[in-house]
Amino acid sequence: MSGQMEVDKILGSLKEKREQVVNRINALQKDRRRKGGPISPDFAEQVVEVENDEVVDAIDDLERRELSQIDEAIARVNNGDYGICRNCGEQIPEKRLIALPTAFNCINCSN
Ligand SMILES: [Zn+2]
Repeated sequence: MSGQMEVDKILGSLKEKREQVVNRINALQKDRRRKGGPISPDFAEQVVEVENDEVVDAIDDLERRELSQIDEAIARVNNGDYGICRNCGEQIPEKRLIALPTAFNCINCSN
């Protein structure tokens, strides 16, 4: 990391990203509550509802995983070890961090 400016910028974008993910998780939960009504008598419709639930679960899972990655990245910024490859200990290039703020390893180690 060449300077505090970049870390601040990345921290800002991490926090922004975090807010978006939290909003999406909240929207998913609202969506799920809406479906808590009586089960549709139409079997075909029930199947669609179950499939939708599975999709919602899968998205929810992804969003939560992303949230924990963002939280971890923010924690690493606070600990001062942000931008250091977890695998080889090398500095992760700034370009990669800007493109992928939650990156925890360098390009070599991610392959
Ligand atoms: Zn590495």
